[in-house]
Formats: sequence, C-alpha cells, structure tokens
Amino acid sequence: MDREQALNTLTAQVRACTACPLHRSRTIAVPGDGPVDALIMFVGEAPGFHEDQQGIPFVGTAGRFLNELLEKSGIDRRHVYITNVIKCRPPGNRDPEIDEVSACKHFLDAQIELIAPKVVVTLGRHSMARAFTEEKISQVHGQPRTVAGQIYFPMYHPAAALHQPSLRGVVEADFVLLRELLDGKLAVETYIPPPEAEQLSLF
Ligand code: URA
Repeated sequence: MDREQALNTLTAQVRACTACPLHRSRTIAVPGDGPVDALIMFVGEAPGFHEDQQGIPFVGTAGRFLNELLEKSGIDRRHVYITNVIKCRPPGNRDPEIDEVSACKHFLDAQIELIAPKVVVTLGRHSMARAFTEEKISQVHGQPRTVAGQIYFPMYHPAAALHQPSLRGVVEADFVLLRELLDGKLAVETYIPPPEAEQLSLF
C-alpha cells in the first residue's frame, strides 16, 4: 500500500471509529485534511460546530483566521496537513477529556508517522501537551524543539487570539518565525523535559 492509500485507510478508520462516547454525538468525524507529503502539519484541539458538519478541520471562524495567517506567511493551505488532537466534536465545544485524548492518540501518532512532516505546529495547549509536558504555552510558544526526532513548533490557538486581541500580534509574530524555520533560518534545540515530567512518564 502506498502512503496515500495508507492515509486514506486511516481517514476511513477515523470516520468509522466508535472508541469513545463522542461518536454518539458527532455528525461526522474530522480525520484531517491535506496531502500525505505535506511539509507542515498543524494540530488543533478538536472539531467545532462547522467542522463537525462538514468533516473538515478549521473551516469556521478560527479556520478563517488560520487561512489569513497562512496566506500572509506565503504558505498555501493546500500544501499543509491540518488535523486535531481529537477527531470528534465534544458537545458544546468543551475541552477534550483525558480518556478522549487517549482513545484518539493512536490516530494522531499514525498521521505524524505516515506524513513525517518537517514540522508539527501545535495550536493551543491541548495540542502542545502531546510534545511538551509540564510547559506553559506563554513560555514556549514560537520556539521550535525536537522531540523524539520530530520538530514541534508550539503556538497559541488561533481562537485564543480571536478572543484575546492582545494575542493576535503574538500569533502573527510566531507565523513569521515559522516561515524562518521553514527557510532554515531558525535554530532548533532538542527538548529536555523538566525532571518532574520525566519522573511522571516512568509510571
Ligand atoms: N478549533 C480546532 O481546534 N480545530 C478545528 O478544527 C476547529 C477549531
């Protein structure tokens, strides 16, 4: 099976998934969108109302802002892969629960492994938590780090910038840094988790 077929198979598995209770309230699961050879993968939190209706990530208000940021950075949305930590909409757009994140984790793991993007951009703290344990987004946003051989670039969620206008400039500045990272002009350090996080991961 080639990579494109493998991604299509994964997409079909997400659409049919019944591993957590969210499948009962969803309209349609939202696996992800974009080509298998994407250089950048954006990982948001969870589908919202419009995503749940259309089965495509980031098509609502936050999505329009993401499109604007991509366009300003000269990044074509058709060339990036966009997905979420969880693939089904939580009722009322509440935060994802730990069990839901665990039930969905293997899908995101498989997407990252298959697409193997140059950089995974995490949007918001739920997405950041996958790579950077025990960190605060206010302290690590805009700083690319390698985790287990994969470059992660944490950013605030575009919706946070829409709700908190003071964050808009921060998100825009991080997109400039993302452009520099893609152009090889930004140094990438290896992430060393704080000692408490290492300790926790032993159990
Ligand atoms: N917010 C997200 O985190 N993901 C979406 O797909 C849409 C809004």
